[in-house]
Amino acid sequence: MKKIPDSFRSFTEEQYPFFVKILETDNPPGEEDAMAELLREEMEEHLGAKTRKDAAGNLLAYLGEGKDAFLLGGHMDSVMPCKNVKVVRKDDLVKSDGLTVLTADDGAGIFEILTALRYIKEQNLPCCPVDLLFTVGEEVGGVGVRKLKKDHLRARHGMLLDRAAPAGVFVIAGPYKRNFRVVFEGRAAHAFEAEKGVSAIHMAAAAVAQFPQGKINKSLYANIGKIQGGDSVNQVAEKATIEGEVRAFTSLAAETLLEEYQRIIDSILYKFSASGGFVPKAHLEYTSRREGYHHEENMSLIKTICSIHKEMGIETSMQVTRACSDAGDLTNKGIATINYANGAQHVHTKEESVSMKDVIRISWVIVQLLQHLGEHPEILAAD
Ligand SMILES: [Zn+2]
Repeated sequence: MKKIPDSFRSFTEEQYPFFVKILETDNPPGEEDAMAELLREEMEEHLGAKTRKDAAGNLLAYLGEGKDAFLLGGHMDSVMPCKNVKVVRKDDLVKSDGLTVLTADDGAGIFEILTALRYIKEQNLPCCPVDLLFTVGEEVGGVGVRKLKKDHLRARHGMLLDRAAPAGVFVIAGPYKRNFRVVFEGRAAHAFEAEKGVSAIHMAAAAVAQFPQGKINKSLYANIGKIQGGDSVNQVAEKATIEGEVRAFTSLAAETLLEEYQRIIDSILYKFSASGGFVPKAHLEYTSRREGYHHEENMSLIKTICSIHKEMGIETSMQVTRACSDAGDLTNKGIATINYANGAQHVHTKEESVSMKDVIRISWVIVQLLQHLGEHPEILAAD
């Protein structure tokens, strides 16, 4: 078992003030400019990277020459409350002051990537060409990654540091997610002559009752999370809306369920039209989509990561998750991407924390990986 060199531990500790800067920079979704500026400066000054911002606001950077680059990335936004973060450190544990999230999701991932790259540069270690991608709006449905243009990147393999877990954990499969909305349009009438109206609320309620939802099977989940409609208790409601999401491990399973929803809607419309001359309407639409993925365990990149873990004495844990990340969208754009641990814990809460022990280990995994890929370019040249 190879130990992490003390010189790397102290190098990472020297970078700690930059970690605090990342964590304390305000970064709600849609307000990533200050974060992008901080990262751009760091990458240009200390890594000598060429950077660019795309039309969506994603920050991209390029290191080294060659077409077989490796993608490293994370997201610049965090869930609220993430303004005026005050970082508090006790021994190795890094937390907020309890009033905000820490923003280690995904600040820890970003810091680990940049620390590893800076170390490689300063030590002049072998390294593959690297594409860097820091997205916007990940926490609000992958807004940035969806708009990303594939031809802005050279890489066909990649790793995000966006899994809230300790070193050794990474995700090899994630779900397809379809958010949907159904708007029902009936006919208003006074409640005392309800026979002249068609209740949109009644139609929506019928849909909620009939749509399969909850855990449908071990790889298919659906949830109706919002319902809205009607203006007044003495009026037959003219409009009602339901909103929900479907998650599945194949896009076919997700879309098949939505087709079933459409058939149920059609039958509801038929039933509610039969009572009079008025034909009610309903419209099912997707409000957002995230793509799923599944990597084979014998993919060279995965095997390389496993052997690095073994050398470091870290246990490998490959996970299949029902949580979405940018890795799915990137994989569907042709960049086979895994989602690696960033060390963060209790993310999306004010108790969020990260241990510097984990930060150092994960950064060292990245150093080892980039070095290995630099010495074995055939791994990235393979499909
Ligand atoms: Zn995240």
